[in-house]
Formats: sequence, C-alpha cells, structure tokens
Amino acid sequence: MADIIKLLPDHVANQIAAGEVVQRPASVVKELLENALDAGSTTIKLIVKDGGKALIQVVDDGVGMSATDARLSFERHATSKIQQAEDLFNLNTKGFRGEALASIGAIAHVEMQTKPEEEEVGTHLKMEGSKIVFQEVTVTPKGTSMAVKNLFFNIPARRNFLKSNQVELRHITDEFHRVALAHPTVSFHFYHNGSELFNLPADNYRKRIVNIFGSRTNEKLVPVDEETPIVKISGFITKPEFAKKSRGEQFFFVNNRFIKSPYLHHAVVSAFEGLIKPDTFPGYFLYLEVAPGSIDINIHPTKTEVKFDDEHTLYAILRSTVKHSLGQFNVAPALDFDQDPNLDTPYDFKNKSAVQPQVTVDANFNPFSETPKKSSSSPTYSYQPKASKNWDSLYVGMESKMGGNEPINSISFESEAITGSIFENEKEVQETVATTFQIRRKYIVTSIKSGMVVIDQSRAHQRVLYEKFLKNSTVKDAVSQQLLFPLTLTFSRAEIHTLKEIKEVLLSIGFIFEDMKEDAITVTGIPLLVTESEVGMILDQLISDYQQEINGESFSQSDILSKTLAKTLAVKTGEILDNQSQIALVNDLFACTDATVSPFNKPVYVTITENDIDKKFI
Ligand code: ADP
Ligand code: MG
Repeated sequence: MADIIKLLPDHVANQIAAGEVVQRPASVVKELLENALDAGSTTIKLIVKDGGKALIQVVDDGVGMSATDARLSFERHATSKIQQAEDLFNLNTKGFRGEALASIGAIAHVEMQTKPEEEEVGTHLKMEGSKIVFQEVTVTPKGTSMAVKNLFFNIPARRNFLKSNQVELRHITDEFHRVALAHPTVSFHFYHNGSELFNLPADNYRKRIVNIFGSRTNEKLVPVDEETPIVKISGFITKPEFAKKSRGEQFFFVNNRFIKSPYLHHAVVSAFEGLIKPDTFPGYFLYLEVAPGSIDINIHPTKTEVKFDDEHTLYAILRSTVKHSLGQFNVAPALDFDQDPNLDTPYDFKNKSAVQPQVTVDANFNPFSETPKKSSSSPTYSYQPKASKNWDSLYVGMESKMGGNEPINSISFESEAITGSIFENEKEVQETVATTFQIRRKYIVTSIKSGMVVIDQSRAHQRVLYEKFLKNSTVKDAVSQQLLFPLTLTFSRAEIHTLKEIKEVLLSIGFIFEDMKEDAITVTGIPLLVTESEVGMILDQLISDYQQEINGESFSQSDILSKTLAKTLAVKTGEILDNQSQIALVNDLFACTDATVSPFNKPVYVTITENDIDKKFI
C-alpha cells in the first residue's frame, strides 16, 4: 500500500492553529496587548476601526525586535519567552507558545514596524496569509507597531460569523479592561473609529479601576488584603448594596493574568451570603499572587483558565478574606447614611424612618355601608389608577354600576359579599361586587364569569409598563416631567458611550439630557413613571441590560429598554397593593395587547373555573 500520510504545509497548519487562537477581533487585541506588555512597554496604544474588522493596531514603546527577530516572530513556535520545558513552570510573561503572531499572520494582513532602542533604523514588514510580502529598512521610533487588517480575509466562513461592529467592540473592550486592570502602572490609550474611548494614565490599582469604570465606582470599593504562605490576595470588592442583577464587573487576576474561575467566584459570592439579594452579584477586582510553579496555565489555548495545586485551601482563604474585609470595613447590609441618594436602591429606605407599628381603628368603618371609606393611611404601594377601560367581559357585571373612573366605589369586602349573597337578592349583589384580593403580597385574585383569575402582580405590572414604554417610544414627543434641579450623574467612558448609542430611544421615552460630557451627563427631564431618586439606578440598569442584550439576540433598542424599564419599575412581589391599585392594575392589564405573558415571556395569570373548583369538592 502506498504511503498516504503527508505533513500539512505550514500555511495550512497555521490556519488550523489560528482557529484556536483567534476566534474574533478581541482575541487579536488580547494577543497584541500581551506581546506589548511582555516587551516591557510603559505606554500602549490600541487603535481599532469598525469593531476590529477593518483595523486592530497596537503601538508600544517596548524593547522592539531586530530585523531577523521580526521575520522569525511569525514562525510557529517561535518565542523569545521560554527555551526549555522547565521554563513553563516559571512563567513571568503572558505569551509562551509562540503561536499568536503565526496564527494572526495566517488569517489577516499584518503590517509591522519595529525597532530596538539601540538600533539606528528599524524594520517595516508586511505579511499576508503566512507569507512575507514586503520588508524594508525604515525610520521608526523605539518599540513595535502591529497593524492587523482584513481579519479572516481568507476564511469567509469565519468572517461571516462575526457579529455587528458594536458587539465585536464590546468584546474588545472587555479584553482591554482585563489587560488594563492587571497592569495599572502601564499607561493605555484606546481609540475606536477615531474617538478616544479610554485614556488611562499609569496609576495604582484603585485609580485604574475608577478610571475605567467611572468616578462613582470609588465609593463602592472595599479594599481586600491578605497574605498567607500559599497566596497573597489584594484588590477590592464592591459594597453589598451595589450588587447587580447582571454579571460583569467580576475580575480575578492570578499573577497579573486575568482568569475565569467559577469555583473561586463561588467563594467570593458565598462570603456575601445574607448581605445581598439572591440572584444578584457583587463586583470584585481581586488580584491573587501565587508561586508560578503552583499553577498550570497551559490547560486552555486562550489561557483564561488556570489549574491550582491546592484549590480547596485557596477557596477557603479567599472566602474568609472577603468576609473579613466586609466585616472590617463595617459594611452593613442596608443602611449607609453617607450614600449618594442617586445610587440608591429602588426601595427608598433612606426616606423612611422606623416607627412603631400602630393599630388604628377606623371608627367610621362600617362593613355594610354602600361605599366603604378607605381606612387611614397604611404603607401600601399606590398604583396610579388610570381611567379604567372595561377590559373584558370577564368581569362580572362590573360595567353596570361602576362610574367609569371610580373603581374604588365598587370595592367591597369578602364578608360583605357573603353576607350579601345570603341576605339579599343574589343577582343584585353579583352586579355590584367586583372584588380583588391580594394573596401573600404576590397575587391578585378576582372573580370572572367562569370562575376566578389569579394574577401575578409583578408580571402584570411589567406587562402594563412595557406596553406603555413601547408605545411612548414609537409616538413622537413622549411626556416627560421637568426636573426642578438638573441632575448630574457620572459614568465611565464606556457607559457614556452606551448612553450615546441609546440616546434616541431614551429621549423618545421621556428622558431629557442637557449635556453629555465624557464622564457625566446632566438630566433635566425624566419619564412620567420614573421618580428622581430612581434615575441613577435606572440608567445603570439600562446600560448593563443593553450591553448584555446586544451580546445576545438582537432586539430593537426600544424593546430592550422598555423591558428594562418595566422590570425595574414594576411593583415587586412582597409589596402591598391597596384595593384601588389592585383594580387599576387588573384593568390596565386586560387593556394590554397581550395580557397573557410578561415581557419576559412568563405567564401573567391563571384562570380557575368553577368547574375546577367543583371538582375539588367531590
Ligand atoms: P509568544 O508571545 O507566545 O512568545 P507570539 O507569537 O505572540 O508568541 O510572539 C512571538 C515573539 O515575537 C515573541 O516571543 C517576541 O519575542 C516577539 N514579539 C511579538 N510582539 C512583540 C512586541 N510587541 N515587541 C517585542 N517583541 C515582540
Ligand atoms: Mg504572544
């Protein structure tokens, strides 16, 4: 039999390897930034066009390369960083595989200019599909510039697989954050399509975090510091009250390399147990230092996972360190009187003071009167009743006696209904009673012709608000309330960038912005359904949801934002609704285009027919 095994030509082998190393523009960014760091640079510039599809360029002031090294750097397994197997266990550099440039050179057009400090002139080199197509001596400053253009030019399937520029930019920004957070003493500049997204001077860890995530981050941070024989932990966690629904600002670095570790994540989250609501996540920026020999970073080609020698001990140390910091800095779960009210949770704790519960007796209360008076003030959520439409013939005779706008008059009590049906003409009673009950501060129950309907109050309100916002955003000139004093809120550059992206929709639902600066915005008007103290929280939520969503399915901006607003502003489970609010909510719900599901596709109500009930009594 003839021999059939052949060695793959280099450019094919390189393309295959590239598939592992380069998944998207962000992977190129990561490799180039890491090479620049390994070269000992003090200032690194990242220049990106069209989400990295048109251009990714990294310019550094590091050691540079000789003409020979410049050529060699594109060979597979060409690296200056390790020489023998043992070196793998003593890594102090980001790179070590010698694969990145070979891979990138196989699937893109690369242009390099590089010069070591001591040389007079440098090297200018162009690479296309693993071939050097141009090389020349050139005058260039010390350091290296790598420009990667037309990524995946020879792999159309890969190119077509790329997401929108926005999404790719988001991935690039994530990589940039990781690298920049791990190296605060290096200064970074990041430009996209000509505008500067980040300008990060060399600084300490705390200032680097604040520079990236915005000045409001500063007050959220609690320092963490612990040194044990097996690990040194430093960095910051965010105070429990700033825990977010979405994940995002969670960073582990091991020996200044960003890593993902669900296991260690769990250790941190468990230290917050009891301090944050379930399904929210604390932010953290934790820097772990371990002996290079005690970890193996070789287990994953893109190197975000590491294997520790003694994971269990690490878990325990991390958890108790975080707990200790939370305790030491006296981070209490709920009350912090120095807190900026704009950052507050929706629950508005601050404005309320503790009062002894009182038992009040309404002397005028008569359960048998025709129009029962609302009992004196109770801490109920007031759902603004709107002119109620008769939502459905589902309601038993509600139309007949209820003067359209005053559903309150038709409220009566359970006892009354029963009494009525016993002592009065049954038919008559049925027509005047439209009772709702709240059960376990979660469900609203009301009777319908065929039996009863049980409504999830939170989902119902979400549906109502969602349709309102969606409608507003499609109608010009949404109603907004003018703020007495303009509200200035600070954000990180990336957040401002997102706000600008969604500005049109924000305007269309009633926000008015006077000024959008690089790191702050001034709000002068807000949508009708929003209160001033909620604005900061809502915008935060909108930004993070929007960022998450565009990474997922592509809904329209107004759809994403309407959902977020609905979710954020809706009555929650656990809130007491007075009768008036319950009825208004039910009316509004059944006036919706689709009352059956919440904006997040969850059922809003269930009906239980008389038949169902009868069956239970057999
Ligand atoms: P690795 O980083 O794993 O060594 P790369 O393919 O990323 O592999 O780079 C190959 C080699 O090219 C590096 O080992 C280094 O010697 C050289 N190199 C790459 N980028 C730079 C840079 N920005 N400055 C100086 N040398 C560089
Ligand atoms: Mg490298």
